[in-house]
Amino acid sequence: MWGGRRKAPGGEKGALSSGSYTDGLMADYGNHESSDDPLHILRHSTAHLLAAAVTELYPDAKYGVGPPVQDGFYYDFAFSKPISESDLGAIESRMRRIAQEDRPFVRELVSREQALEEFRKRGQDYKLELINDKVEGDEVSLYRTGEFVDLCRGPHVRSTKDLKFFKLLRVAGAYWRGDEKKPQLTRIYGTAWPTAKELEEHLKFLEEAEKRDHKKLGKDLKLFMVDERVGPGLPIWLPAGATVRRELERFIVDEELARGYLHVRTPDVARLDLYRQSGHAQLYAEYMYPPMRFEDGEELELRPVNCPHHIVVYQSELRSYRELPMRIAEIGNNWRYERSGTLSGMNRVRAFALNDAHIFCTPDQLMDEVKGSIELALYFSKVLGIDEFSYRLSARDDVKEKWLGTEEQWQLAQAALSEALESMGQSYEIGVGEAAFYGPKIDFQVRDAHRREFTNSTVQVDFQLPERFDLEYVAEDGSRQRPVMVHRGAAGSMERLFSYLIERYVGAFPTWLHPVQVIVIPITDAEGEYARRVAARLREANLRFEVDDRSERMQRKIRDAQARKVPYMAILGAREAESTHVNVRDRSGNQTDESQEEFVQRVVQEVTERRR
Ligand SMILES: [Zn+2]
Ligand SMILES: [Zn+2]
Repeated sequence: MWGGRRKAPGGEKGALSSGSYTDGLMADYGNHESSDDPLHILRHSTAHLLAAAVTELYPDAKYGVGPPVQDGFYYDFAFSKPISESDLGAIESRMRRIAQEDRPFVRELVSREQALEEFRKRGQDYKLELINDKVEGDEVSLYRTGEFVDLCRGPHVRSTKDLKFFKLLRVAGAYWRGDEKKPQLTRIYGTAWPTAKELEEHLKFLEEAEKRDHKKLGKDLKLFMVDERVGPGLPIWLPAGATVRRELERFIVDEELARGYLHVRTPDVARLDLYRQSGHAQLYAEYMYPPMRFEDGEELELRPVNCPHHIVVYQSELRSYRELPMRIAEIGNNWRYERSGTLSGMNRVRAFALNDAHIFCTPDQLMDEVKGSIELALYFSKVLGIDEFSYRLSARDDVKEKWLGTEEQWQLAQAALSEALESMGQSYEIGVGEAAFYGPKIDFQVRDAHRREFTNSTVQVDFQLPERFDLEYVAEDGSRQRPVMVHRGAAGSMERLFSYLIERYVGAFPTWLHPVQVIVIPITDAEGEYARRVAARLREANLRFEVDDRSERMQRKIRDAQARKVPYMAILGAREAESTHVNVRDRSGNQTDESQEEFVQRVVQEVTERRR
């Protein structure tokens, strides 16, 4: 993958969607297309209500911006003394009181000087800054609700009495205007809905999402950890998590080999010059780690992408048309320095292993290669249980200066992408003007347990790197031709995939992926010998198991295995030992009596088929 575009700057982004409300400043003031969506109006109005309550309770608090976001709203404040989540109850009560007072939302158009005076006398420095930086012309729009005044275009609800079904959720840190060099403010998040029922449903959803949260489950199930001494954004895969990853990688690599990919191993670092040639050093520098410079003049760079290494592999020999398409693949480590405020568990990290491939092909082969890439991504999704996704085709617009390459190349590439999707009967959205500057792409958008959308798989057509690296192949007529390059990520990064799967299965991974597939539980010491024989058979069948021979009561052992969401418990009592049977209990509580061999065969079958 060449790399995505950096999103608009923002402070803490945890709860925000990738939608249009990520930039608080734009949403609150300076947004000339302020939304008429009743839900946005409701939430934006509730944000005002929050700020009104805060300024009553904390008269010296300064307020920043308060836009609606997906499912709710936030408002940023500077408090003279820090507040915590335990203060939210009191703030919410004050909001309810103000709501009942039936204060109208009143719009006022005032002169710039009047607006500055209004906020100056209130000591609201952030609003002064916004007026100075964001407001053009002499007319300023304010909204007043009782004593509280905000710099705002609206629209708003009629009265605070229209705000009934809301709840404050949490506090987070956020830099003023998303800039780490600016002061850190306290962001209060809340949610608001038109009806009590919708509010209740949303709160239930949040509760469920929290139970699924991969950071919580990652800790409870000992899958991974983040340690301050190693550093944020650099998660450590603990044995159980590393087992899941090994299975994922085996699955991915085996499938790719079967589909004609050539798997390589290339180093995590390269000379900086390689990224100068690829253009990353110029165009992608803000993501990259600073280069390592040595006394002998060597300059090495932790790679932000794998493409240049794979190009070097391609160029290791003069290629013939007979070798094309050449699909070079690797689960390659990439290093990108994400800002600390955006890091989150396995989801946003500073080093990740990407299921990456670069396909070098002739223009005639492009369409089939795009299709093949989509088919592979679909297959991975089906097996892994990624059920909710959509396609987004990012095309270019007519602003010629923004795009590299010729008209003809773009047409060919965009046609290949859209025809591939259409011929496969897949519907898709088009994002005009959203292409990468070097070519169009298809993104596979997935929604996680928190309803956050992320790009899992991507297929990008690239005519630029082949130019920059002067790639060639010998055509049938003996002439030298330029191949097309497809950057393709089918299963995404191992880190993000893992975080998705943890939440998708709430830790109850399918048997083929689960770190421990069977727990053998002898009821008493007398079954110790039989337990060893069952264990030997499981080992022989290449299943992952543990024998729980602690001197605990059986019920306790069962509870512990259930807490770890282990697919099968093989419970062994005197009767089982005598008949060489096992009493099998699965994690949903079903119990069966099977011969040892039946049981082993059944689990092996399930694992081999990678059943969900
Ligand atoms: Zn690439
Ligand atoms: Zn407003």
